[in-house]
Amino acid sequence: MATITSRPPTPFANRSLTPFEEVNYFVDRAADRLNLADGLREMLRRTWRELGVQVPVRMDDGRIEVFNGYRVQHNGARGPYKGGVRYHPLADLDEVRSLASLMTWKNALLNLPFGGAKGGVQCDPTRLSEGELNRLTRRYTANIEHLLSPHRDIPAPDLGTNAQVMAWMMDAYGQIHGHSPAIVTGKPVELGGSLGREAATGRGVSIILKEAAEDLEMDPKSAGIVIQGFGNVGYWAAHSLDQMGCKIIAVSDVNGGVYNPSGLDVARLVKYRDRNGTIADCTEGDCVSNEEMLELPCDVLVPAAIDNVIHAENAPRIRANVILEAANHPITIDADAILNDRRIPVLPDILVNGGGVTVSYFEWTQNLQEFHWEESRVNEELHKVMVTAYDSVRQKAHADGITYREAAFEIGVERVANVVKLRGFV
Ligand code: NAD
Repeated sequence: MATITSRPPTPFANRSLTPFEEVNYFVDRAADRLNLADGLREMLRRTWRELGVQVPVRMDDGRIEVFNGYRVQHNGARGPYKGGVRYHPLADLDEVRSLASLMTWKNALLNLPFGGAKGGVQCDPTRLSEGELNRLTRRYTANIEHLLSPHRDIPAPDLGTNAQVMAWMMDAYGQIHGHSPAIVTGKPVELGGSLGREAATGRGVSIILKEAAEDLEMDPKSAGIVIQGFGNVGYWAAHSLDQMGCKIIAVSDVNGGVYNPSGLDVARLVKYRDRNGTIADCTEGDCVSNEEMLELPCDVLVPAAIDNVIHAENAPRIRANVILEAANHPITIDADAILNDRRIPVLPDILVNGGGVTVSYFEWTQNLQEFHWEESRVNEELHKVMVTAYDSVRQKAHADGITYREAAFEIGVERVANVVKLRGFV
């Protein structure tokens, strides 16, 4: 296990940070260790391009509702911008910036030939009809399409979006530019999506846990696992970990969770969710709130839903032996410091949830070559990328006596900084 070091106080000790400032805190730490010149550091801290658009939508009842939409391109030095599109009530510009920045470091850490971007529409997709979602997606795509292209910026699904939303984005873009499957990833397989993409982020979580288990002196087969979120990432993480022989003891969605220390039957939970639209109130175990879930005693805690769920207030009460960040930015920096002091290792988001963008990369290459890979090939290649990234993080963390997060950021920041210098941007 990596040596855990104490950390200097944050530069904003007396106020809470915005999500983008939180990500930049770790960028700064990496830049300090790498001795980056001030100008280069500033380039890496700031976003390259930001677009805010209004997204007017004709609602089913005839009203026009106007939503806020964003696309932020953080850094494109290593390749076309790549990052998901989030539909969520809290998806504001600062959150989208922070997620775009995380994509830059994630793609660099995984050594994928992409820069980092993110998009979002501030809306609650659970309250929109299918027709409203379709119209919103088309309007949003039309309003940002001049920033997109298969060699410039390639969106993908994220929180609140899915393969159907990507199909609508591809269609809306194609109406202007002609048939362009490589413009989005995470599409339905029938439209050029990759086999294995839907499961990839969750599968990546299980690959990282398997690799880390030895380091953490843990037998994954007897590990009790708590997963917050039962959407794309949470469900596929539960499924893959269940197949690895782990015991899933609690899962939740936005409405609440279910806890059974003897282990939950993941297949039965999915059937329940598909019938009822939620897993809250499922009788496979005891009902727990999302707050209680996070504090359950367990071997592995996998936040796989939204940002900032582990914060200074609940971090002292976390009873996990290790945390795998499947969601983006689920732990605030204050909480990260508390967990660090408590010797609870955290495997960071830019490593743990990298399986999704890795198979998005495979999907993009298949689209450009107009060729399909077998699922077994996708999974084998995914495994190689995830294990290589894990090994680099582990080695750096151990060698330098820093946390896994610090190591992951340092590798990503160094790779992007090198490419910025090589290109002679400045
Ligand atoms: P999703 O919309 O498919 O599922 C989200 C899940 O979280 C749902 O079960 C939902 O009910 C639950 N949830 C929503 N709000 C919640 C709350 N306040 N408390 C508890 N649970 C809540 O989204 P997803 O694609 O699974 O994304 C989840 C996280 O993983 C996000 O942070 C996303 O950025 C990250 N991520 C996703 C991918 C991907 O391929 N989809 C890749 C990398 C990272």
